[in-house]
Amino acid sequence: MFEQMIEKLSHDLNILSQSLASFVTPLNMLVLIGALGLAVQAYIGLAFFISSIWEKERRATFFGLLQFLGMFGLLLFYLFLAWVGFFHQTIGLVLLIAGYVFTGVAAFFLLRKTEPNEKALQGSKGLICGDVKRFDEREQVFARNRTMRPGSEQYDMFYKEHPEYEAFDAKRREKGGPIGHPGIIDRPHGDANVAMTLAGQSMCLNLSSPEMVTPEPHFFLKERLEKGKVELSPEDATVKVKGYARHLGAALVGITEINPLWLYSRRGEIFHENWEDWGGEVSLDHPLVIVIAEEMDFDLVGPAPHTPTVIESMQNYAKGAYISTQIAAFISNLGYSATANHLRHYDAILPPLAVDAGLGELGRLGYIMTKELGPRVRLSAVTTDLPLITDKPVDIGAHDFCIICKKCATCCPSRSIPKEDDPHEHNGTLRWKLNDETCFDYWGKIGSDCNICMKVCPWSHARTFPHRLVVWLITRNKYVRRIFLVMDNIFYGRKPKPKVPPKWAEYRAKK
Ligand code: SF4
Ligand code: SF4
Repeated sequence: MFEQMIEKLSHDLNILSQSLASFVTPLNMLVLIGALGLAVQAYIGLAFFISSIWEKERRATFFGLLQFLGMFGLLLFYLFLAWVGFFHQTIGLVLLIAGYVFTGVAAFFLLRKTEPNEKALQGSKGLICGDVKRFDEREQVFARNRTMRPGSEQYDMFYKEHPEYEAFDAKRREKGGPIGHPGIIDRPHGDANVAMTLAGQSMCLNLSSPEMVTPEPHFFLKERLEKGKVELSPEDATVKVKGYARHLGAALVGITEINPLWLYSRRGEIFHENWEDWGGEVSLDHPLVIVIAEEMDFDLVGPAPHTPTVIESMQNYAKGAYISTQIAAFISNLGYSATANHLRHYDAILPPLAVDAGLGELGRLGYIMTKELGPRVRLSAVTTDLPLITDKPVDIGAHDFCIICKKCATCCPSRSIPKEDDPHEHNGTLRWKLNDETCFDYWGKIGSDCNICMKVCPWSHARTFPHRLVVWLITRNKYVRRIFLVMDNIFYGRKPKPKVPPKWAEYRAKK
C-alpha cells in the first residue's frame, strides 16, 4: 500500500515537472515577468488610492482610483492576451519586446541618480556669494512690533537708528501688530482654537526664562560634578543626545559646528522684562549646535490658513521648547554648558544651521525642506560645548525642484514668495528671499500664521508608502522631479483648497 502511494506520488511529480519544463520557456518567462511588472504598478495605484482616502484628499482619491483601474484593466487585458497565446504570434512578440525596451530605457533614465548639487553638499556655505552681515534681532518684524513699547527708552533708541521703519510699524500696530487679532479669520466659531494656540504660546514663554534656557546642573549633581564632568566619548554622547531627543518627540535631529554668521548680532526679543539684554551683543562660546525638527501634523496643516494650522504651529513650538530645554538640562547635568533655542529665545537663525546639520535644503518658501517631511516641520536647537560627532549637509534635490515648482509662490495670498526661477543675492547669500513684512501683515489680517505655502508644497504630503516612494525617486533623479510635479498638479490641483480639520479643531459651529 505504502509502496503504491510512493509510486503514484513519484509519477505525479514526474508529470508536473514535465509540464513545468514545457512551461518554463524564455518566452513564457518574459510574459510572466511582464505580468508581474503590471501587477506591481496596479498595486502602487491601489496603495495611492487608499492613501488618498486616508489623507481625505478628494481630488487625489478620484485620480488615484482612475490610475488604479487603468493599471488593473491593463493587467487583465495583458493576462487575457497571454491566455489566448497572443505573445506567441509575431506581432505579440514584437509588442512584448517593445514594451521591455521601453521599460528598460525609462528605468535607466528615471531610476539612476542624476548629477549631484555640489552647492547643496556644502550646506549654508554653498549659499554664500558675498559679504554676509550678521542680522540684528531688533530689526526682525516680531521684535519691532511685539517687543518694542511706544514711549519706552528702547523704542526711541531703535527708531532714531531706523527711522525707515517708524511710520510703517506705527500703522501696523494700529491694526493689531503682526499677529493682529488672533483667530479673526474664523471668528466667532474658532475661539476655542485661539485658546489652544495661546496655551501653546504660554508653554514656550514659561520655558524661556534664563534658568530654563541655559540651565545649571541639578543640585543633586553639583557635588559630583565638582570632581569632574561625566566622561563620555563623542560617539556615545551623540547616540545619547540624538536618542534622547527622539524619545522626547523630535522627528529629526542633526548636529553641526556653528557658523557664527548665523548668530544674531544683537538681542531684540525680550520676554521676561530683562531689558538690560535688549540691544546687547549676542556672543556664544559653544562650538556646536544640535538642531531638532518637530513634525507639523498633516491633518492640521491641511486646513491652512485657518486656525487649526496655528494650533499646530504653536504646539510644535511648545514641543520644541520642551525638547530643547530638556536636552540643555541633560547636557548641563553632564557638566557641560548648553543653551536652548526656541520660539521665545533665539541666539541664532535656525534654518541655515539646520542645513549644515544635514536636515535638508533651503526651499523657495524660506523654510528647511527635509527629505522625511518636506517643509512640514518646526525647528528648535541647543548650542553646546559637549563634544559630539557632526553630520554632513545633504543634497535631496529640493533646490532643483523649487526652481521648476513655484507652487508656494503661486498660492501665497500676500505674494511674499519670489517667483523668479533662480534665487537672488540677499545679504551676501544666494537664495529666494521671503518678504517677511508682507507675510506677517497677512498673518495680522487673518489672525493665524497662514501656512498655505507649507500646506501646498508637494513635499508636504503625508509619508504613506506611495509618497515615500515618490520622495525616494525625486531625491535621486531630475527627470522624475519634472514628471511628479505635473502629476502633483493633476492629483492635488495647482491651488489646493483648505481641508476639513479634525472635529476637535473645527472652526465652524454646527448648525
Ligand atoms: S511649493 Fe514648490 S517651490 Fe515652493 S518650497 Fe515646495 S517644492 Fe519648492
Ligand atoms: S505663510 Fe502665507 S502669507 Fe506667508 S509666505 Fe507662506 S503662504 Fe505667503
